Amino acid sequence: MKKITIIIPAYNEEESLPFLYERLEKLMNSINNYEFEILFVNDGSKDKTIELIKEYREKDNRISYVDFSRNFGKETAMIAGLDYAKGDCVIFMDADLQDPPELIPELIQWWEKGYDDVYARRKSRKGETWLKKFTSKMYYKVLQSLTNVEIQRDTGDFRLLDKRCVNALRKLRESQRCSKSMFSWIGYKKKEVLYDRDPRIAGKTKWNYKKLVDLAIDGITSFTTSPLRISTYLCIPTFLALGVYFIYVIIKAIVTSTAIQAFQAIILLILFFSGIQILLFGIIGEYLGRIFNETKQRPLYLVNEYNGTREENE
Ligand code: UDP
Ligand code: MG
Repeated sequence: MKKITIIIPAYNEEESLPFLYERLEKLMNSINNYEFEILFVNDGSKDKTIELIKEYREKDNRISYVDFSRNFGKETAMIAGLDYAKGDCVIFMDADLQDPPELIPELIQWWEKGYDDVYARRKSRKGETWLKKFTSKMYYKVLQSLTNVEIQRDTGDFRLLDKRCVNALRKLRESQRCSKSMFSWIGYKKKEVLYDRDPRIAGKTKWNYKKLVDLAIDGITSFTTSPLRISTYLCIPTFLALGVYFIYVIIKAIVTSTAIQAFQAIILLILFFSGIQILLFGIIGEYLGRIFNETKQRPLYLVNEYNGTREENE
């Protein structure tokens, strides 16, 4: 029997856990051709989250948990989940029931049809502010324009990943993690499933705008080194301005047969030296970008098939 691991990062979720467990239990009891493992990653919760999880484990051996020594953040909780998952596929889910467990059978169906990464795309988002929706939309746009790897829109972490994706993700050990970009980076056969995102069942969101901005910056800087190129591109208009102004000053001096004036010389010098500085920053940026990419130590490639057989990438 195939095993499915549901990974649930949880941080101060004592209020949602009872609802979550009830819904998951119902789901697991309705599907009996698969074995389930529910893997909680307790991300240093300060409330009774871990006590509750331990309670569930006492009476239900399908529950497992990893208990962090402190709060490491959701991204880290997710990779820990991947490290400890035993299933033939994993499903990421939030603890607050914003991702409806009832969608899981559909995810599994597509997995059985041969898809490696079945991700749930939000059709609608209830209980979220207009501003949050707008900023998240703009963020996707910016991120996509900066990179040539395709990014899935309106997609959170709710998804099913085949074992080979899990193995691939386990190889990406960078400490500044951005799962969204990693799911895109690993590739493999992807399938989109639409769903309505529910409001949080209980408790409060762990996010605030500062965290979101941090996440956005982390996302961009860990996805691409293109911001480092800004400098390289900026030196072009500076040198252009220098050239144009230089020609203008010379011609004017010849035509009016007066000497070049002090302020003109100063403008020329400023343009010249700032151009050189920006260029040098750009060069440093280029090398920095290369060092940055090398330090990630990612595998150079991931194989889908070899001679017609699926590569498991173990
Ligand atoms: N979470 C976590 N560590 C954190 C923050 C959040 O493991 O430091 C978990 C949280 O328990 C939940 C999921 O990540 O299961 C999503 O968090 P939340 O619902 O607060 O975010 P939102 O859905 O509002 O974006
Ligand atoms: Mg939530």
